[in-house]
Amino acid sequence: MLEARGLSKSFGRARALDGVSVEIAPGEVVAVTGPSGAGKSTLLHCLAGVLRPESGEVVLDGRRIDTLGEAELTALRRQSFGIVFQFGELVPELSAVENVALPLLFNRHGRGEAMAAAAEWLERLEVADCADQRIGELSGGQRQRVAVARALVTGPRVVFADEPTGALDTLGGEQVMTAMLGAARAGGAAVVLVTHDNRVAAYADREITLRDGAVLAGVNP
Ligand code: ADP
Ligand code: ADP
Repeated sequence: MLEARGLSKSFGRARALDGVSVEIAPGEVVAVTGPSGAGKSTLLHCLAGVLRPESGEVVLDGRRIDTLGEAELTALRRQSFGIVFQFGELVPELSAVENVALPLLFNRHGRGEAMAAAAEWLERLEVADCADQRIGELSGGQRQRVAVARALVTGPRVVFADEPTGALDTLGGEQVMTAMLGAARAGGAAVVLVTHDNRVAAYADREITLRDGAVLAGVNP
């Protein structure tokens, strides 16, 4: 469904990706692992259409997306992808429920409908009681659940998560992973997650290990 073919990307003289090919099946949960600097985030960003590779192709459902114009790519991201960053990227001036409603408003849903759907997602992630609080008033775990709700609210084909539990303790991390994967499975979304943490990688159906910008191994745990 989502495929990277021979992706390469450099930053100055640093080669972040060097001919990486991966394939993600519908509904599959894939962990991208490897040491710091291996190219994990760069791969995630290329797959998610937030960074363009220098060479190679990114293909979603048979259609190349790395060559789309900026407006088309943004529209496709909003339709098909959900992204959870480690440090939230939630809008601090807005409440939790408004943050979750935002992607639906971008997709031209009406405000009432968007707010109702957002409230439902907060409930599903067990943070309904935080709906009217601002992001700054929430704990790390609560914020991460709100970020997950925001990534899933549009019913994406693929959810991308970069160190989704990086800011949490063990229990908080387990709860967020369980909530995220449960919600993704219910919606039939594939999940691609970057992690340093073996306990997080253990949730995946498959692990792709990068080293020095290349795929080291793809194993089924
Ligand atoms: P990982 O996620 O595995 O830690 P990254 O994809 O973040 O690896 O980085 C891979 C390499 O590319 C590293 O050498 C990193 O310093 C470099 N890099 C990544 N992003 C940038 C950037 N925006 N500018 C310069 N170098 C970058
Ligand atoms: P991670 O290891 O989790 O990928 P990093 O701290 O390497 O986190 O990267 C965080 C952000 O900084 C990313 O957006 C990445 O592209 C950027 N980045 C990474 N390395 C560099 C670098 N050497 N110069 C500039 N930006 C970088």
